[in-house]
Amino acid sequence: MRTRRIIGVLLVLMAVLAACGDDDASVFYTTAGPLGEDEVGNILAHQHMFVEFGVEQPVAYVDATPEEVYEVIGPMVEEVKGLGYSVFVDPTMEGVGRRPDIVEYVADTSGLPAMMVTGFYWGNTMPAWINDATVEEIRDWMLEELNVGVGDTDVKAGFIKLAHSWDGITDNEMKILEAACYASQETGASIASHILSSSTALAVIDKLEEFGCDPGRFIWVHAPYTAFTEENGVAGLLAAAEQGAYLSCDFIGSNFWAGWLDGHNENSRHIELIQTLVDAGYEDQIIIGSDTGWYDPGFPEGFVVEPYDQIMNSFLPDARAAGFSEELIQKLMHDNPWAAYSR
Ligand SMILES: [Zn+2]
Repeated sequence: MRTRRIIGVLLVLMAVLAACGDDDASVFYTTAGPLGEDEVGNILAHQHMFVEFGVEQPVAYVDATPEEVYEVIGPMVEEVKGLGYSVFVDPTMEGVGRRPDIVEYVADTSGLPAMMVTGFYWGNTMPAWINDATVEEIRDWMLEELNVGVGDTDVKAGFIKLAHSWDGITDNEMKILEAACYASQETGASIASHILSSSTALAVIDKLEEFGCDPGRFIWVHAPYTAFTEENGVAGLLAAAEQGAYLSCDFIGSNFWAGWLDGHNENSRHIELIQTLVDAGYEDQIIIGSDTGWYDPGFPEGFVVEPYDQIMNSFLPDARAAGFSEELIQKLMHDNPWAAYSR
């Protein structure tokens, strides 16, 4: 009798715990509202719809209209929706001409939900108010975007996206990093950063730990650039992964990035790097993307717009031919970006 009662109590406890688990279930914050994991299949993990890039203080972005952007970008988004993606992650932050209203319009019109982010780009691209802002003020600005909505929209930011300079973290970048850590602690949002050197990546991870944040919620954006350009760059990626960080291999198939790599941005380079990371035991920490798009009102005549189909139409066939298992592909297309960006 006694055993039966203990089992009964245990069953009730398990039911209560399961119910709590449901309440705490992580979601993807998107233009279509919060989505549960069963509503999210393949994730287009790093692309841009709209930026004003390459100027220290962007201005042209202010006058762009959602309709003119849709004319160029809309068909490309419709195309990848047709290829079997369920969420478009657009990690465009303040400082590169962010227009959340345009992303929301393109996502709603095409019917492909988009995730947006909060945060700031590096160096002199930041808005002037950052110079005099305290860590707490920047934290509160991020919390507003994470809890209420990005820009003037009511779409909550999915995660925090920053950038840190090649040759070390500047004072403003450090202030923003600390603010991001506190906003992350309150919301569970991960912190991603555009970083092009292993010294900066490892310094950012150290600082996050110092501020009390878990490197397991950090995403090193554009990590392959360091692997491809630094002597022992791969060792830097492995050291970051050892600390728990995600490595975002997010410019696969991009011609824009090929220009930064002496023309060499072949799929085979990424496949070899990902295989190295998998062999080292980090298959749950790899994110893939192409970092393509995008409509740039600062380059109305000359900018080359690149499509969003590289992973599905080019990379995956090559990866399968190179022996990537379906289990690994599932991790790259869904499990890992889900774990990294959900909260
Ligand atoms: Zn990007």
